[in-house]
Amino acid sequence: MSFGRRLGWRETAYAVLTCLIGEDALVTAAFTQNETGNDTRNRAGCAGTKPGSQHWSPRPLLPLQTGLSAPASARRRWLVDGEEFRRYVYTMTTYSMSGTLHSDWEHWFLNGLHNKLQSRGYRFVEQPDLEPDTDVRLVLNFVDPKSPRPFRRKAQATYVVTVAVSDEPVVDVLRAGYPILVRALSNLLIYVIRQADRFDTYFVTLEQGYYKVPYEPGQDDAYFERIFERLEPLATSNLIIDNEFHPDLPEELWEGDEITAQVSEAAKKIEAMNLWPAPFPIQDILPPEDFRHVKRLYGIGGLSYGNLSARKDGRRFWMSASGVNKANLRKIGEDILLIKNFDAERKLMELSVPPHVQPRRVSVDAIEHWMIYSEHPSVGAIVHIHAWMDGVPSTQINYPCGTIELAKAVADLVRQADDPSRAIIGLKNHGLTITGPDLEDIFERIEGRIIPQVPMS
Ligand SMILES: [Zn+2]
Repeated sequence: MSFGRRLGWRETAYAVLTCLIGEDALVTAAFTQNETGNDTRNRAGCAGTKPGSQHWSPRPLLPLQTGLSAPASARRRWLVDGEEFRRYVYTMTTYSMSGTLHSDWEHWFLNGLHNKLQSRGYRFVEQPDLEPDTDVRLVLNFVDPKSPRPFRRKAQATYVVTVAVSDEPVVDVLRAGYPILVRALSNLLIYVIRQADRFDTYFVTLEQGYYKVPYEPGQDDAYFERIFERLEPLATSNLIIDNEFHPDLPEELWEGDEITAQVSEAAKKIEAMNLWPAPFPIQDILPPEDFRHVKRLYGIGGLSYGNLSARKDGRRFWMSASGVNKANLRKIGEDILLIKNFDAERKLMELSVPPHVQPRRVSVDAIEHWMIYSEHPSVGAIVHIHAWMDGVPSTQINYPCGTIELAKAVADLVRQADDPSRAIIGLKNHGLTITGPDLEDIFERIEGRIIPQVPMS
């Protein structure tokens, strides 16, 4: 590939995606200010490319029109991943398959799902390697539950659905299924447990939810319709989990303020109520190479559940970081971050951090909190826990965490509440999002009413 000419968008997207999956791809780049006052994005090329792979040197790839509002002199770190490029390469909903079919049942399942997906306009990409311009949205990854082979996606926007069939009885579906989900690096697990002449189909989600999809003999079409309905939100939703860190946090906030102290206290209270499930130790069950892959693609260091935030002022709010121990939120920029903007054009959250810290990502639900704070000035705090309460309005579709679709579904229900600043919203098969004028008010309203187990359907 020659870079002596200006690249078309497809080539650019492909080049960057290829860069992303390079062994030790350096995927950071910097913004600099040129003399005309326009931001120019300089990307660093792949470092350490393998023999025979493409290689290029750092150079500006895309002209940038972003309307950034941050101080022009600030040097900003730009975390590149597949999401930004998805919109350039995504033309229609596509799916692909990976892994090996081990049984007649899997052939039957794949065939049934093929027919359903294709009748709904999905296009099967048989050999994704031959279609590098196509960003496959959905991958069905068939694995042996005893040794689940990971599927390493090339782009963040590819949702991997792992299918594992067990011929042995399983007592605890979540306990047995969740490690398979994580080891296969998937977004969702379809866990099928077969006994004699029957089978049960369970969906296991990254949010530690699981539910059963019924099958009645002879009703194949109804069964695949139900499977499709559950997969469609994955194949059509859009993650907003990219962070852009601006080292412009005023010095008087480097150690936090009275609001971050409240956030930290509230998180301890929720810990005492036993409502933060232990983070799942992905680093213990993933080989180092796969752990690096997950980190590179999603910027996460672990899976933890739940988050909380509190408003700083008209536009900004403090929020817990992703994957941290919420019983001990201390450092600004690492445990608690200040969100100052959502850039809809570039689909990322902008955060102010102290210049001396190596920042962590903010919780993936930042987009949801952003939407609620922006719309309702009376909301001063938001808590999200994986627990339930009786009689709460609930979302109907369980979109994955961190997607704009989930954020919109929750924001819609907050808007419909009698008092949006005191709303308690159920997230189907997932948990609760609770708004309040402040954190104290939230605790007063939920005390004694929490059901630790989220109902699954
Ligand atoms: Zn959650």
